[in-house]
Amino acid sequence: GRRLGGSLRVAVLGAPGVGKTAIIRQFLFGDYPERHRPTDGPCLYRPAVLLDGAVYDLSIRDGDAAGPGPSPGGHEEWPDPKDWSLQDTDAFVLVYDICSPDSFDYVKALRQRIAENRPAGAPEAPILVVGNKRDRQRLRFGPRRALAALVRRGWRCGYLECSAKYNWHVLRLFRELLRCALVRARPA
Ligand code: GDP
Repeated sequence: GRRLGGSLRVAVLGAPGVGKTAIIRQFLFGDYPERHRPTDGPCLYRPAVLLDGAVYDLSIRDGDAAGPGPSPGGHEEWPDPKDWSLQDTDAFVLVYDICSPDSFDYVKALRQRIAENRPAGAPEAPILVVGNKRDRQRLRFGPRRALAALVRRGWRCGYLECSAKYNWHVLRLFRELLRCALVRARPA
């Protein structure tokens, strides 16, 4: 039989247009519509997932903030990371677009914000930084090695690149995140 693993709350955050919804939809539905309806306001999914022989109840928050969504003209409309309540989350996925330096800066601000808002005594929640749109590799703004080193050594977060479009490393992303969260939840 399958063990019951418990429940985990995951927040997927990042600037509008980086592919948060696309990543979640690939993971949950194996689906990549070229155009999905923009999610207005944070959206919650409640899947049960099987990992290493146990079933977990996940809550996945698609962190799109209310607002106009992707603004092709500029980034003035990006939601303020301060608006999110970051305290009741077990694990974070911070998504940026490997072709957008601004979206990387956004992730940097988010990470800072998460660290500052962790309640005293709460266990540290793992953070996985994800560079999405890996299929657009030719247009990337910075060398992968340097970014990964900054994130891993400088920020002490996980780093991984994926393509929601081609379903490349999407499953691995969630597997790594959950394993990480579970290790921290069960101190030896
Ligand atoms: P969100 O605002 O972060 O939820 O971003 P969306 O999931 O709505 O995606 C924004 C746009 O980027 C959409 O047009 C997607 O089709 C596109 N997109 C998402 N993931 C990828 C990817 O891996 N590769 C490419 N080329 N486009 C992507």
